[in-house]
Amino acid sequence: MTAVTPELLRRFDVPGPRYTSFPTADRFVEAFGAEDYILALQQRKSSTAARAMPLSLYVHVPFCESLCYYCACNKIVTRHHDRAAVYLDYLAREMALHTAHCGKGQTVSQLHLGGGTPTFFSDDELRTLMGLLREHFKLEPGGEYSIEVDPRTVSVERLAVLKELGFNRLSFGVQDFDEQVQIAVHRVQPAEQVFELVAAARQLGFASINVDLIYGLPKQTPESFERTLAQVNALRPDRIALYAYAHLPERFKPQRRIAAEDLPQGADKLAMLSRSIAAFMDGGYVYVGMDHFALPEDSLAVAKRQGRLHRNFQGYSTQPDCDLIALGVSAIGKVGASYSQNAKTLEEYYDAIDASHLPVVRGLALSRDDLVRRAVIMAIMCQGAVLFEPMEQAWLLGFREYFAPEMAALEDLQAKGLVQISDEGFQVTPMGWYFVRGVAMLFDRYLQADKNRARFSRII
Ligand code: SF4
Repeated sequence: MTAVTPELLRRFDVPGPRYTSFPTADRFVEAFGAEDYILALQQRKSSTAARAMPLSLYVHVPFCESLCYYCACNKIVTRHHDRAAVYLDYLAREMALHTAHCGKGQTVSQLHLGGGTPTFFSDDELRTLMGLLREHFKLEPGGEYSIEVDPRTVSVERLAVLKELGFNRLSFGVQDFDEQVQIAVHRVQPAEQVFELVAAARQLGFASINVDLIYGLPKQTPESFERTLAQVNALRPDRIALYAYAHLPERFKPQRRIAAEDLPQGADKLAMLSRSIAAFMDGGYVYVGMDHFALPEDSLAVAKRQGRLHRNFQGYSTQPDCDLIALGVSAIGKVGASYSQNAKTLEEYYDAIDASHLPVVRGLALSRDDLVRRAVIMAIMCQGAVLFEPMEQAWLLGFREYFAPEMAALEDLQAKGLVQISDEGFQVTPMGWYFVRGVAMLFDRYLQADKNRARFSRII
């Protein structure tokens, strides 16, 4: 494997989306509303093939007890836990609104609770939530049921409750173990606490444990981050997600509390990234793709080896591409050839449900071109390869003619060693995997038409 040096990162580091969807969420329009979403649900209900595919569910819990200064999520910071009970009541009513159109008892093979902080809910509230989900949907045995865990909000006993409720995957928000960094981002959680929780989670039999890290945070240095990397290798989670911090204080208010002079600059950020990749390779991890590493025996690494990776709003997944019903404020769903997003404020979300309306406020009905490009982009992001013939047969087009400008641009990436083109298709090289979204971006017609946008976080 080619060493990913800061020099390589500098050359290929361009702003770009993460392609957890295509088109990306910033392309959703308000012209797509609840009526369009209902139509998509009804189409699913009337299609035997669509119904045969299990559903994926996402539940967004927006509350957090305290504010992390780097945060760019849709959340509500509050210490009033009684707000959770009200929210839970609305979630129950939202579930009923969805199932009124798609039918009750649909099989679900994947559930993710994200936030905010899902563990803001008390054990009883989580129990109620899981009970409600089981009342409306059929959670398949052996499915992937995951929850984001803020280590500050759980104990070993709480982890046991999560296991008992049916969760089999945990994702811990760690970000950095360095105390100075934790103070600078207002998220202090001692390493010992994380070690204790991960050990307990293993004992309890959770199938996969993920740890989220962020590089580029205030007070981080390549040396300090190297210590964190060593601790993460010692912790040995099954999966690691490593994200770049994008400082956009004009867009995300909490980030205004971060002093710009405390932020590591370009060269240091690149050094942190290349040291992270080297440290995880040394630790025996496999680079799965954008931002994600996994132990070779983890199902994500196995799926990558077998060409079975998929990508959804939570990142890489082993589960086949399926319809996603999203519940809660600001949650994004995907049903058939459409994406939909719920109201972003609690007030708007509650108002819609009080009026017995699905709280969908924007979305997108995908065109045929969107669907073709989505297939190509997901093949690049997940398999690192596109074969012309299957694409041509699936979409009834001549690949090289349809994508003539893209293929010309691809030759430039071939000259840089990121892809290899043959008569049968093209393949991302081992080095190209580290810049895989740069390859995918070539096929994003929205981006190509609007090249100057710089709203996305830096590539990798
Ligand atoms: S980073 Fe997570 S826990 Fe922190 S404020 Fe944002 S959503 Fe809440």
